[in-house]
Amino acid sequence: MSNARHILHSVFGYSEFRGEQAVIVDHVLQGGDALVLMPTGGGKSLCFQIPALLRSGCGIVVSPLIALMQDQVDALLQSGVKAAFLNSSQDFDTAIATERRLMTGELDLLYVAPERLLTERFLGLLDQLSEQQRIALFAIDEAHCVSQWGHDFRPEYIQLSVLHERYPTVPRIALTATADELTRHEIVHRLGLNEARRFVASFNRPNIRYSVIERDNPRRQLQGFLASHRGEAGIVYCLSRKKVDETAAWLQTQGFNALPYHAGLDAGTRRAHQQRFVRDDGVVMVATIAFGMGIDKPDVRYVAHLDLPKSLEAYYQETGRAGRDGDPAEAWMTYGLNDVVIHRLRIDESAAPDEQKRIERQKLDAMLAYCEAASCRRTLLLQYFGEITSACNNCDTCASPPQLWDGTIASQKLLSAVLRTGQRFGSGHLIDLLRGKLNPRISEYRHDQLPTFGVGKDLDEFTWRAVARQLLVGGILHADARHFGAITLTEAARAVLKGETTLMLRRPRKLTSGKVPRYSR
Ligand code: ADP
Ligand code: ZN
Repeated sequence: MSNARHILHSVFGYSEFRGEQAVIVDHVLQGGDALVLMPTGGGKSLCFQIPALLRSGCGIVVSPLIALMQDQVDALLQSGVKAAFLNSSQDFDTAIATERRLMTGELDLLYVAPERLLTERFLGLLDQLSEQQRIALFAIDEAHCVSQWGHDFRPEYIQLSVLHERYPTVPRIALTATADELTRHEIVHRLGLNEARRFVASFNRPNIRYSVIERDNPRRQLQGFLASHRGEAGIVYCLSRKKVDETAAWLQTQGFNALPYHAGLDAGTRRAHQQRFVRDDGVVMVATIAFGMGIDKPDVRYVAHLDLPKSLEAYYQETGRAGRDGDPAEAWMTYGLNDVVIHRLRIDESAAPDEQKRIERQKLDAMLAYCEAASCRRTLLLQYFGEITSACNNCDTCASPPQLWDGTIASQKLLSAVLRTGQRFGSGHLIDLLRGKLNPRISEYRHDQLPTFGVGKDLDEFTWRAVARQLLVGGILHADARHFGAITLTEAARAVLKGETTLMLRRPRKLTSGKVPRYSR
């Protein structure tokens, strides 16, 4: 039996390595650098823990998750591994004692927060250890935090390049559960991992069922969705703190054990709510994206999004918190016209450099394409991470493929309404106009006198919103940041107006109950 397998049995109590664990452990054991992409729950920890135990000296693990270090170290101590951590949550004496144990060679693994690692004091200690060849390896956990354009950017991560510069002979292993091609490139580039061997596990989470419904009456829709999850633990993500508070309060009135979580709550409340979520049964955590990274709860049965995340990476990461135990779980989202407008405007209005805006737009477009998908959602999601798969039979579009309809004439009507009103109005106004609905602003601007007034009575408001949304997503309409989101035409609109292109649109699904279509198996 190899030494690595021996440690796997005797220390961790597992009989077999999973997936590529054995190859990764071996590679790092030999002193090689590695970049490991493995979904949450895939078993990344062993990939650095076992080599750290087998190589001489202490393994240094950089992790941004201060809240989790204690748990991880406790688990290791229980297995008899000499582990410790250093972060800002400790008192001075404890930290000094830990440093002393590091220097006397008493530790196998030391978890360090990046800001602590980068202090001159700590680097000085590492210099001494390195001279005595007593650093087993560097593990850089949550390596996607190095990406400036990602959703978890930590500025200190960029400075982690010093590890390679100062200690070139110490093997490094960077790990993450989420990284599209661009983020992978950034990790490699910023951490100097050009020579590192890449290990990419499948990102498929077969037990998670994906579905997206068109937002109509979000509370009713959420209620309908949660009806089939009573008593189960889950997360409901909202964009704003205010919406988190309101949604949590409302769910409580509906008899759910719901708790709010966002960065506006004090640390004590946040900690208490997080603990209740992890320990109690059936808590619904209503949260902003401040909640979730590193939450180790295997039986989260669903992750619901009431607002659109800004990228598929973020979505994958957030939904990945569901079903870590392998039992069926749901990733459910409501999505609407507003999401498209708000996110596009957010990017346009930001003070970021053009290059960054271009990348953010690309990421958003991939997210929107996922929402508008007419084919398997899982296939699209995995394709984004460079994986080719066939239809999954475990998402809403597989269960009931959306219908397409010829929306050319409807689109032309909407485009001419935009033109006739001088490209200065938002979608709500335009839709009222098309449907011949008199409202004060329509009267004020005398838009009821326009020939387009009432030409769209044949379609309901819900369908018109789907048309507007798909034209925005398709780049035929544009929401103008300089005019409070007024809808304008793009170059591509010309061909549609002239009748040179046919537009096949997705028919919106009105699912007020929030129920997801299912296969009967
Ligand atoms: P990740 O960091 O990739 O999210 P973890 O390292 O926390 O995943 O592992 C997820 C779970 O799988 C843990 O409970 C861990 O103990 C378990 N695990 C990891 N490797 C194995 C293995 N080879 N055999 C059995 N269980 C494993
Ligand atoms: Zn599918």
